[in-house]
Amino acid sequence: MGKIVVVGSSNTDMVVKTPRFPEPGETILGGDFFMFPGGKGANQAVAAARVGGEVSFICSLGDDIFGKNSLDGYTKEKINTSSVLVTANTPSGVALITVNASGENEIVVASGANALLSEEHLESASGMLNQATMVLTQLETPMATVEFLAQRCRETGIPLIINPAPAQKLTDETLKGLYLITPNETETRILTGIDPSEEGGAEKASAYLLEKGVQNVIITLGKRGAYFHNAEKQFLSKPPVVMAVDTTAAGDVFNGVLTVCLSQNKSWEESIAFANKAAALSVTRMGAQASAPYLDEIN
Ligand code: ADP
Repeated sequence: MGKIVVVGSSNTDMVVKTPRFPEPGETILGGDFFMFPGGKGANQAVAAARVGGEVSFICSLGDDIFGKNSLDGYTKEKINTSSVLVTANTPSGVALITVNASGENEIVVASGANALLSEEHLESASGMLNQATMVLTQLETPMATVEFLAQRCRETGIPLIINPAPAQKLTDETLKGLYLITPNETETRILTGIDPSEEGGAEKASAYLLEKGVQNVIITLGKRGAYFHNAEKQFLSKPPVVMAVDTTAAGDVFNGVLTVCLSQNKSWEESIAFANKAAALSVTRMGAQASAPYLDEIN
């Protein structure tokens, strides 16, 4: 079985339900409060581990109660945390989320320790990185670290998957030779200037990324599925039709599960179909990590 290393963010999501959002300077009494483990890196690592991936997670935490809870959570999910960076006197990342009566949300993220995930730390984890069958990362950690990781993987020939979320531009250098990029529709627009929801848009946008030197492109299209494109072939893979309840972290589940399938040498067709199924199942349930399915549920 392949070894997967996820490099990325770890946050604690704090959610308060409120009848309406407060005005600037106003205090209002909200409703229920919930605390969930989150962060795109963590969500993807958990999704990968739940479908049987051998996962190591490289992230950066503070030595506070949130960081400790996160670490305990990863251990329970059987994720290797031996290269997690824990820094004294630094807060772990948190996302403060308010949800109003219409279900709209306002989110403020304090990156905290995530901002300390440095090139030096990746260098110190190079033993783990060099043994990886596949590496998966996102854009919630410093861009310099992502660029360093891309360069490292290019030099060592280890396939790197970048899920370019939240949407940001990537340098040509980072794209060149990249094994796989997995933008959603918004991220595709930011990366390419092409709208993948238009007729022929997914084909044009993925061709643009292939021209930049990316080896394989998957554009996720929400309930329409995922569009694959490389030098040999292109196809659209559709997820099952489901009743969507909460699409939070659908992309995270897709990426975590996809990486496990690819690291097991499954074909693009089989891997994407399975990731679609897992992500579709996750949108029928509430929560981010909470909604990530286990292998037997997908089967
Ligand atoms: P993100 O969550 O990053 O915005 P998408 O919205 O493109 O990404 O969703 C990622 C994947 O989740 C899709 O490719 C699909 O497999 C699955 N998915 C998302 N929304 C739905 C839905 N309403 N029904 C079925 N599958 C869905």
